[in-house]
Amino acid sequence: MSQIIDGKEISKQIKEELASKVKTCMIKPSLAVIQIGEDPASNAYIKGKAKAANEIGMNFRLFQYAFDTSEREIVNKIVELNNDEYIDGIIVQLPLPSGMSTKKIINAIEVSKDVDGLTDKSIARFYNNRKCFVPCTPQAVIELLKRKEIEVAGKHVVVVGRSNLVGKPLVQLFLKKDATVTVCHSKTENLKELTKLADILIVAVGKKHLITADMVKEGVIIVDVGITREDGKLYGDVDFDKVEKKASYITPVPGGVGPMTVTMLLKNVIECYNNKNTGK
Ligand code: NAP
Repeated sequence: MSQIIDGKEISKQIKEELASKVKTCMIKPSLAVIQIGEDPASNAYIKGKAKAANEIGMNFRLFQYAFDTSEREIVNKIVELNNDEYIDGIIVQLPLPSGMSTKKIINAIEVSKDVDGLTDKSIARFYNNRKCFVPCTPQAVIELLKRKEIEVAGKHVVVVGRSNLVGKPLVQLFLKKDATVTVCHSKTENLKELTKLADILIVAVGKKHLITADMVKEGVIIVDVGITREDGKLYGDVDFDKVEKKASYITPVPGGVGPMTVTMLLKNVIECYNNKNTGK
């Protein structure tokens, strides 16, 4: 029987730490969120971020725009927020309405306020080992392992998924921690042969129950990033009930990486605030 890595509980502890930091701030740190259009999943994610910010005493400012707003108007707003000394972090809720240039809009965010770590400048800094904000979901995966005191150095980590948002940054983060990393994707042949070799298996695909019990070895540590919504319920990429019996540690969905992702966002905003006030 495995130990559950409880993302909700770990997030709660970290949010308490962050709330005490906020209490010591002269001015409340502020997160600005730009929402374009009315994607139902985005509405839910934004609500979760607002609630979490509120819990730790952080200001949350939401700027909503209709789906047919011009890119120029959005970029102008981002430039205004870049120059606003009372805004510490800025994010644009993705996905954007079709036809809008995600790159152009995201890249308008000043790197010092890019708390999602998604601008080209932040990404270049990340891969060149320079100071920047690490994207929140990969950071959440690493933090969950750290809080459980799971050693990564020397371990064979298999990452399933190679997206720019999750899989690729995770490869870099695990390499920095001296793990041996294998990356799998949709064209990988014999996925099972590779996942069976994992000491630590990270799955970030978005296919319900892609990973079954016969695909992992006894004692594996699993972090399930994937989310599939079906009939109002959330499912991970791992067939949790069966795989749990073989794993030594495993994250549930929901209640694993999701809450930690939001918490890492808040942590980044406080770091922005501190950088600004210490002139870093
Ligand atoms: P993505 O951009 O769609 O990438 C999915 C990756 O999975 C791609 O690299 C794809 O390979 C690979 N893949 C697809 N089918 C596969 C298969 N059968 N076997 C092996 N690999 C396969 O998605 P993402 O943005 O990385 O997100 C991944 C999942 O994590 C989604 O379910 C998303 O909702 C979830 N997510 C959760 C959080 C959270 O906070 N919990 C945050 C972000 C994302 P190719 O590159 O070859 O196409």
